[in-house]
Amino acid sequence: MVIVYGWKTNIKKEKHLGKKHCTNCSHDEDMFLAKEIFKLHIFGIPIFWKTKRRFVMCSNCGVVEELNKADYTERLKEL
Ligand SMILES: [Zn+2]
Repeated sequence: MVIVYGWKTNIKKEKHLGKKHCTNCSHDEDMFLAKEIFKLHIFGIPIFWKTKRRFVMCSNCGVVEELNKADYTERLKEL
């Protein structure tokens, strides 16, 4: 029997934070709260997933500022 398995890492943008100044590319760009999710799948069905990193991401250059879980959750709840 052949078992088809694999894994991939996705970035999920969860909240738009508006335009802010990026220290890396020096532009005022859209910033997003996002998290990197690792997924393990068998026959195309995800059987295990885990959040690897939480961060604020610049939409222009993709630089990330990592956040811990408490800071991320707090920023997610802010309006
Ligand atoms: Zn940038």
